[in-house]
Amino acid sequence: MLGIQPTAQLTSWLVTGRILFITIHLLGVACFAYIVARRLVPLARAECDLRFDHPWMRLGRVGKYWLGQWKHPRYKLAGALHIFIFAGFIVLAIRAFSVLIVGVSENFVMPGLSGRAGPIYDIITDYAATIVFLCMVIAVIRRLVFKPARYAVPARYGKAHTADAIFLLSLIAILMVADSLFAAAQAAAQSHSGQSVETLAAFSLPWILQKILVSTPLPALGRLYFGAYLVHELTFYFLLCYRPFGIQFHVETSLFNIYFAKLDREILKPVRWGVPDEHLDQVKSFGVKSFEDFTWKHMLDFYSCADCGRCSDNCPANAVGRPLSPRFIGIKARDYAFQHYPVLGRAQNGTALIGNKGAGGLYSEDEIWSCTTCGACEEECPLLVEYIDKIVDLRRGMVDDGNVPQSLQKPLKALESRGNPYGKLEKKKADWANAKEFQQVCPVRTLGKTNGAGTLYFVDSITSYDDRMQSIGRATAKILNHVGENFGILGAAERDSGHEVRRFGEETLFMALRDHNVDAIKSSGVRRIVTADPHAYNALKHDYKDVPPVEHISQVIAREVKAGKIRFNPVVSKNAVYTYHDPCYLGRHNQIYDDPRDVLDAVPGLKRVEMARCRDRSFCCGGGGLMLFYEPKEDQRMGVKRVQMAAEAGANVIVTACPFCMANMEDAIKVAGFEGKMEAIDLAELVDQQIKGG
Ligand code: SF4
Ligand code: SF4
Repeated sequence: MLGIQPTAQLTSWLVTGRILFITIHLLGVACFAYIVARRLVPLARAECDLRFDHPWMRLGRVGKYWLGQWKHPRYKLAGALHIFIFAGFIVLAIRAFSVLIVGVSENFVMPGLSGRAGPIYDIITDYAATIVFLCMVIAVIRRLVFKPARYAVPARYGKAHTADAIFLLSLIAILMVADSLFAAAQAAAQSHSGQSVETLAAFSLPWILQKILVSTPLPALGRLYFGAYLVHELTFYFLLCYRPFGIQFHVETSLFNIYFAKLDREILKPVRWGVPDEHLDQVKSFGVKSFEDFTWKHMLDFYSCADCGRCSDNCPANAVGRPLSPRFIGIKARDYAFQHYPVLGRAQNGTALIGNKGAGGLYSEDEIWSCTTCGACEEECPLLVEYIDKIVDLRRGMVDDGNVPQSLQKPLKALESRGNPYGKLEKKKADWANAKEFQQVCPVRTLGKTNGAGTLYFVDSITSYDDRMQSIGRATAKILNHVGENFGILGAAERDSGHEVRRFGEETLFMALRDHNVDAIKSSGVRRIVTADPHAYNALKHDYKDVPPVEHISQVIAREVKAGKIRFNPVVSKNAVYTYHDPCYLGRHNQIYDDPRDVLDAVPGLKRVEMARCRDRSFCCGGGGLMLFYEPKEDQRMGVKRVQMAAEAGANVIVTACPFCMANMEDAIKVAGFEGKMEAIDLAELVDQQIKGG
């Protein structure tokens, strides 16, 4: 029919093609099934994780993040390459399946492709194979010549992954060439024997190969046809079975990883899924101490990491030389899983994860304490790999073992005894508001049983006790007063929100602080809460239950500006150039990006520029809460890097909306040598300064 024999009928070494290819198929599929089954062993031994709710929402996210490749264009060239490769793979999946079957049944035609759709689909696959091949060539050149920095492997994390990446890219390229050669040899043979030639897409790889082969003798074409098919089959199954040994495993796992990804990223994982707070005293050990303490989903994350380095490229801890790179939190755990749960041989579990390398530890203590939980890594990851929960779980394990950095022990003790990390007296909590001069300007009530209000201003520790940050408290109170809000504070009855305590792994202490605050809020009878502290905002909104709705002051101001209740005097200084720094717990964790900017843009004459890293790519100031007490090993302070970014944008006033950002920024301005040339101001302070009739 072809002028050359179909692959199924060809006989070589006394074996027919049909037998040979059935054997390859069976061996390939069995091998792959066995390897995947072995890879699932640690997941079966892992902690439980409840990820089976909201199936439709999860499917929608698969459509967006997996099929729609939503996050890939955040890196333009790499993203475009990946989208082309992914689309090519999707198109070629049906072709790969029909090519596999053709090897054993020469007349097989994929259902639905026997009519007019067949040639159209063939043309599409010709172009798909060509595009994937070209993408592989570009990817190899990028890896070898341009060497993007984010692919580099620092010496402390082992050897470079370039060779493995090139090997895999080459295998895919070989697969595309073999597939195209198979089609080209078939078409060339058809043309030799004067039959109607299957149309190949013009200028595609199969088309080019057919043009090259046009004068090749028929017997040679037959050998090429069979050889290309054999290479295609062997490469296909080799790739299939090799992928679960490295980064390419994400091809199989990513769909599931995205389906089971966390729906509410801002809500921290409970200590144990399925164990309510009141039964936590029955839990023998908190957090992650050995690999098997991770949940099955977290292990799936490890398998799904594509080693693209986007997380670490955006991690502020990594940028300033702290001993943390989220990419390697995942890669090290994946290598650990491969090593301790081998495909051949016995599984060994139970090794402690934290400790120095010599003692078998996977992560160092500093590595785990270095994270500010800013969320930049999770925001960037195209495969929705989660890091914060894992890091907090590892910290819970360390705290459970009494393993807390020296510098954090004192503030944690103070939080336990006094309800704030500074160890200050509770009765002094409302001093900033009760000062006589301030009460004359802006009366602030301390709420009690007989002194109620509709709105609670939740102040939190730093704004209550820190002399500099008290100015943010006073500005917030004045704004609430200006817009006619019936509000009050809890005063001595307010404890620290516990936001950072929880993220530092001290769950029991957090629960005590939360329960105290919830009781105080409930007995105050308020119907809503306002705060100027994004950490308190995040805690009240996501970590607390059964409290009234909470708003950040920037939301209140933006609303009142729109309603015309707040109007501004023009900015006097002609030289001031403002930039807004997004606090992580307002921006990335709660998507409040526009309200603060809208407020700034409503001030007449205010010149505002954006930093290169802004909105969901904002760069953490160095972290709030207990992070202020932690002294990490680092080459440079995060805040210093951030103020340099502001200077590069041409700004000389950094506006933020978080007292912790303010503390870090003011400090960084001094350290970076910008004192007198640059200043930082909180949004509430700026509004208070500029408000008309204030
Ligand atoms: S949360 Fe922030 S600091 Fe922590 S690993 Fe991710 S990017 Fe780095
Ligand atoms: S965790 Fe995500 S962003 Fe980080 S290297 Fe892996 S795939 Fe890339």
